[in-house]
Amino acid sequence: MLHDLPSVVTDELQRVHDELVQVNEGGLADYIPPLSEVDPTLFGLAICTPDGGFAAAGDHDVAFTLQSISKCFTLALALVDHGLEGVLDRVGVEPSGESYNAVSLEEGTGRPDNPMINAGAIVTCSLVEASSSAERFDRVLGMLSSCAGRELDVDENVFEQELATADRNRALAYFMRSAGSLTTDVDETLEVYLRQCAVLVTAGDLAVMAATLAGGGRNPLTNEQVFSSTVARHVLTIMATCGMYDASGQWLLRVGSPAKSGVSGGIITASPAQFGLGLYRPLLDDRGNSVRAVRACEQLAERFTWHALAQPDDRQLPAVLDEAAD
Ligand code: GLN
Repeated sequence: MLHDLPSVVTDELQRVHDELVQVNEGGLADYIPPLSEVDPTLFGLAICTPDGGFAAAGDHDVAFTLQSISKCFTLALALVDHGLEGVLDRVGVEPSGESYNAVSLEEGTGRPDNPMINAGAIVTCSLVEASSSAERFDRVLGMLSSCAGRELDVDENVFEQELATADRNRALAYFMRSAGSLTTDVDETLEVYLRQCAVLVTAGDLAVMAATLAGGGRNPLTNEQVFSSTVARHVLTIMATCGMYDASGQWLLRVGSPAKSGVSGGIITASPAQFGLGLYRPLLDDRGNSVRAVRACEQLAERFTWHALAQPDDRQLPAVLDEAAD
């Protein structure tokens, strides 16, 4: 079960929410109508601690599609099935420095650069052990649901429209098949990948999913140990270097916690043993990251000094929580 975090945290989320209301930069993803016609004023934030403390502000219970944030959890499943070396045989872990749909494959091996860009995520989908692609997607949805602590559903309309406009992803998949880095059927694997992008979540769900990573694979809502702490660490590491695409370096400098964004405007970020944060704001910058959600994270990271490389004594969140508990 979740419990309320002290008002000092709720107030801070609300303050950041209210302060950023005037930030209206960015544009909606425009490649399919369900994304280009979404209400651009939506803005939700939620935080969840690994021991189940929860606080939220704004539109934290509005549903939207997971899009690229799903990549973290399919990676977790591939790591569970194959271990780190098995995954590394098929996909790299270096930031590509290019956009999320770039055609960047390693020379010689044909491996995509990392699992956080589309090419790499199509490969991690193919690595999920299953005897059919329906079973493969069921396992992915099961993993996403276990991390959210509730059964998630697919927005079939978004899935159909993703499928109808997937030429670039299909080209990437064929390219990888010809290079030998994708060994499963192109259309079937693409469907698994696009279906996981179309899974519906709220910012509140994202906070619990991020807190599952922060808690070493244990879901704070259900207490289920979804994957090992080693898998959680590997996923968080790859999020830290590659999760914000070609803005990953800036993000690590200014916010300092592993993160992943999606083209619908969601962001998750997590810090081991500290918190998981989920945000939603559909207006994106030109790298595909939500402008207001990035700003919110910068402000919260400064307020709570949660940077992964900060001195432990400088971290404010544990102190704030301890003080409120006294
Ligand atoms: N469905 C999108 C795609 O595959 C997801 C990309 C994203 O969220 N950055 O292109």
